[in-house]
Amino acid sequence: LKSHSGPTYVASLSAFSRLLSSLAVLEQKDGKLLQGALGSVTAAQKLGGSITGFIAGSNIKAVAEEAAKVKGIEKIIAVDNASYDKGLPENYAPLLVENIKKGGFTHILAGHSAFGKSLMPRVAALLDVQQISDITAIEDEKTFVRPIYAGNAIATVESSDDIKVITIRGTAFAAAETEGGSASIEDGVDSNAECATEWVSEQLSKSDRPDLATAGKVVSGGRGLKSKEEFDRVMLPLADALGAAIGASRAAVDSGYADNSLQVGQTGKIVAPQLYLCAGISGAIQHLAGMKDSKVIAAINKDADAPIFQVADVGLVGDLFDKVPELTEKLNK
Ligand code: FAD
Repeated sequence: LKSHSGPTYVASLSAFSRLLSSLAVLEQKDGKLLQGALGSVTAAQKLGGSITGFIAGSNIKAVAEEAAKVKGIEKIIAVDNASYDKGLPENYAPLLVENIKKGGFTHILAGHSAFGKSLMPRVAALLDVQQISDITAIEDEKTFVRPIYAGNAIATVESSDDIKVITIRGTAFAAAETEGGSASIEDGVDSNAECATEWVSEQLSKSDRPDLATAGKVVSGGRGLKSKEEFDRVMLPLADALGAAIGASRAAVDSGYADNSLQVGQTGKIVAPQLYLCAGISGAIQHLAGMKDSKVIAAINKDADAPIFQVADVGLVGDLFDKVPELTEKLNK
C-alpha cells in the first residue's frame, strides 16, 4: 500500500480533472440528508472534475436545497417520487442508471451503508461494469484501495471500466462541509416504471444516544457483561457520563445483551471515533475490523493476555463489574 498525503495527492490527480465527472448518490431519510453520504462528495473531490449530487424521494425540494449547499457540488439532480423514499434498491437502481446514462458520468460514488451496499452492485450489474466496494483511498481515477479479509490485507484495485461504481468507507472520507456550496438543482429523469417492490414496514430501535456510526465517542460491551440486565446496568451509565454511543461485540449481540444495530465489527458497523472504550471484549479479529481505526482505544478486561490489549492505547486489567462503575462515578464527579 502506497500512502499519499492530501495536498500532493489532489494535485497529482488534477491532470485528469477535466475528463472526470462524478455523481455522488446522496442518501436521505425522511427529508434529511444523511451525514454518512457526504463522504462520497469528499471522495469525488479527491478524484477532481465536476461533482453532481443525486437525490430522490417524495417532497424532495427542501432536502435538495440542503444538498445544494454542500461544498463542492456543482449540480443536484433531484427526482421527486415517493417510490424512492425508502431507497429500495430494486426501484432505485434502474432510476439511478437512467440518470447516469443521461449525464454521462465517469464515477458513481455512494456511502458503504446498508443503502449503498444494496444499491451499487445492482447499478453496476445494470451497467455491466464491476463494482468497487468499501474503498478507503483513491490512488488515481482508476485505482482504489480497499481492505479485504476483514481488514487483514489491503488491496489496491484498478478498474478499466468506463464507469466506476464505487462505495466508500465513511470512516476514511470525512463528510463534506454542509455550507458554502451553491449548486443548481434540476429534475432528473424518472421513467416512472412500475415499481416491483413496495415498502411495507420497519421496526427501528429508538435511542436518544448519538448514532453509533458517526459518534465521536463509543462505549462498547462484550460477552463479559454476562446478561442484558448487567449490560444495561453497567454500560449505559458509562455511555451517559461520556455522552457516547453504545456498541457491542457480536457475542454480546448474539447472546441478546444488545440490539443487532449496535454490533461493531466485520459483520456489523465500522466505527472510528475519537474514543472507543470497551469492556469485556476479547478483541477477536472480526471485532477489530470494525474499530481498530479509532483514535484512542481504551479497554477493560480481566485477562491481561486478551488480544484487545494489543491494539489498545490505554488498558485496564480488572473486573469490569468493579472498574466500569468506578470510572462512571469518577466521570460524573
Ligand atoms: P469473548 O471472546 O468471549 O470475550 C469476552 C471477554 O470478556 C474475554 O476477553 C474475558 O476475559 C472478558 N471478561 C469476562 N468477564 C469479565 C469481567 N468480569 N471483567 C472484565 N473482563 C471480563 N465479532 C464482533 O464483535 N463483530 C463482528 O462483526 C463479528 N463478525 C464475525 C464474522 C465472522 C464471519 C465470524 C466467524 C465471527 C465474527 N465475530 C464478530 C465473532 C468474533 O469472532 C468473536 O467471537 C466475538 O467478537 C467475541 O465477542 P466478545 O469479545 O464479546 O466475547
